[in-house]
Amino acid sequence: MNIATTETATSPSRSLGNYLAGDVPDENKWADCVHCGLCLEACPTYLETGHEHQSPRGRVHLIKSVADGKIELNESFMDPVFTCLDCRACETACPANVQVGGLIEEARGQIRRAMPLKGWRGAVSRFFLNGVFPNPDRLTKLGGLLKFLRKSGLLALARKTGLIKVLPSHLEEMERVTPEIGVPVRKKFPEVIPVRGERKKRVGLLTGCVMDVVFSNVNEATVRVLTQNGYEVHVPRDQTCCGALHVHAGDRESGRKLARKNIEAFNDAEHVLVNAAGCGCAMKEYPELFREDPESREKAEAFAEKVTDVSKFLYDHGFEPPKGRIDARVTYHDACHLAHGQGVREEPRSLLREIPGLELVDMPHADRCCGSAGIYNLTHPEMAGAILEQKMTYVPEEVELISMGNPGCMLQMAVGVLRHGRSAKVVHTMELLDRSYQIEDQTGTDREV
Ligand code: SF4
Ligand code: SF4
Repeated sequence: MNIATTETATSPSRSLGNYLAGDVPDENKWADCVHCGLCLEACPTYLETGHEHQSPRGRVHLIKSVADGKIELNESFMDPVFTCLDCRACETACPANVQVGGLIEEARGQIRRAMPLKGWRGAVSRFFLNGVFPNPDRLTKLGGLLKFLRKSGLLALARKTGLIKVLPSHLEEMERVTPEIGVPVRKKFPEVIPVRGERKKRVGLLTGCVMDVVFSNVNEATVRVLTQNGYEVHVPRDQTCCGALHVHAGDRESGRKLARKNIEAFNDAEHVLVNAAGCGCAMKEYPELFREDPESREKAEAFAEKVTDVSKFLYDHGFEPPKGRIDARVTYHDACHLAHGQGVREEPRSLLREIPGLELVDMPHADRCCGSAGIYNLTHPEMAGAILEQKMTYVPEEVELISMGNPGCMLQMAVGVLRHGRSAKVVHTMELLDRSYQIEDQTGTDREV
């Protein structure tokens, strides 16, 4: 291996082969790869293409080859690294615990430093990553614009006249499945939301950036479920976007800035609950962003320990089984960053099984990626579309509901339902739990909180 300096892993100026100095991919993450290929059949992009360089093993080999000085940090390296969904299915399959996702993110950081996005792509990327996602008020305004276009009939007119066709078809479909824009939780509720009944403990809640605008109903349902179960919800006003999209896009510096802000915002929280798998996974991995900064890394490690998906928290800390009946068949889709990224699989299913009347129907390959992968469905619409097609073949025909725990998956699966003319409704697990509690309240069934 060609390591150009002998500096320690904590040095900010450390070099490695053909990588730029500083924040280089971590050799420990590929050290145990034995090239066995057990990860290949788990990888959606390998299954689609059959190409070794679009497989986990191939990508790990390429990332190591740049470190060994055998290949350049160039455009040809960029394609396999950015075509990866960062879905982590390979990590579940790998017997040697090779952390492919982390390597991909580190390699992307290097690529974006060496080859920054230019022209309109760079402008759009900077506008959203730096101008919109970390700024909740701007996001709310964008949500308000969509609301206005819908309410005023302008969007309907654009559809009628065919003007909407100026948008790429996947964007148009995405708009069609985007729910009604509600009021963000951080605007609708006080900073500390009291419990119903006896207070068990206080929890912090990440409201997220897109989540609190596009899926404010899910955030609201999450707040109701928590407060009904005795968990006082603290929504720190100075929290920000988790930075997952930035890190996926290779902008690790912005990821670090956002991470620092969230670590500070949730400083007093004993638990930081998250209802979006991608955000939860990114926050649990904050320490990876600070490999060269031991002091920040220590803080990030303490923070990551507190981060928990809301379904796992309820399962582990106790919740009152709801009594309201929902007579329907539901199937559960494992969001990659929940199942592969955080090992949360049984907990949401257990919550669903507690809802009276709800029949949980198994989905084969439930943990196979749907193609959403953050904004992958926007940057790689063809590959994402092919992966979604495959995913839809696994969704049982007889279900009325498809439940999951990630907003990106919700939009992508709703596009799948739309394309296939299916009638199943895509829901977040918290929405179903909340619905059952609400039905219980309406029907007056006694329930001790
Ligand atoms: S990443 Fe893991 S499963 Fe894939 S080839 Fe390497 S050791 Fe085998
Ligand atoms: S993260 Fe997903 S897409 Fe990327 S190499 Fe692993 S399995 Fe393939």
